[in-house]
Amino acid sequence: MTQGPKDKPKLTVLSIFAHPDDEAFGSGGTLAGLVRAGHKMTTVCATNGDVGEISDPALATPENLWEVRPGELRRAMAVTGIPDVRFLGYRDSGMQGTPDNQNPSSLFQAEPAKVDEQISALMDELSPDIVFTHDPTGGYGHPDHVTVCERTTSVVESMTGKRPHLYHVCFPRENFRKLWQLMTDAGITPPFAKEMLDSIGSPDDYVTTVKDVSAYVDVKRASLECHQTQLDPNGPFGKLAPDVMTSWMSTEYFYLKRPDGDDSQLDILADLL
Ligand SMILES: [Zn+2]
Repeated sequence: MTQGPKDKPKLTVLSIFAHPDDEAFGSGGTLAGLVRAGHKMTTVCATNGDVGEISDPALATPENLWEVRPGELRRAMAVTGIPDVRFLGYRDSGMQGTPDNQNPSSLFQAEPAKVDEQISALMDELSPDIVFTHDPTGGYGHPDHVTVCERTTSVVESMTGKRPHLYHVCFPRENFRKLWQLMTDAGITPPFAKEMLDSIGSPDDYVTTVKDVSAYVDVKRASLECHQTQLDPNGPFGKLAPDVMTSWMSTEYFYLKRPDGDDSQLDILADLL
């Protein structure tokens, strides 16, 4: 933390997510707001998003998606205002039970100690005040999201000395329910069945911190648009009316993972934007 004579303290903020685009829906507005407040930001992506969607065959092939998506993340972060983008270099593990899970280069197959070493090196180098990562459900259970949450949380919890405020980025059930209703009302088939609404996402009471990011939602949307391979104009999100989408994207949810047995750590994010 550095502080000039008159200005508010500038913080160092480190985001660690699994795939290029994971930063977008859950935390894109908060990241944009923190950039505009002058904080020092770094975005880390554990995989290259090798087995993601391909919205248009003109943009990528299954063979080169791993080379295309890091460029999309760099462009998205340039729009947000975060030039410092790093990759841990793992292969996307795909969904549970798929052959991609068994690929020896995948994050799912990586030695936890090796991943921890990479994350620890980032903590040592940057000494962040705030760390953002996935929540334990991974939103919808993607093994890479869960792994990144586990490894990042474990590294932060084992830190001695200065320890950052660790926030899990949440997709609470209430928010999935809202999305399901908005899509259903608009005659769009949601990307998840109604039966999943009781189990998908974080429990609503897991959330400690809710941010209204409507002041930054235009940047958030422009940044999201850079993940072109992942945006199908004919998919359920592409079909949602822009104003409805903007309103749904204007709230972000976080859980402050305090050190075990210490409830005194301040919810620093609550007062930042
Ligand atoms: Zn992801």
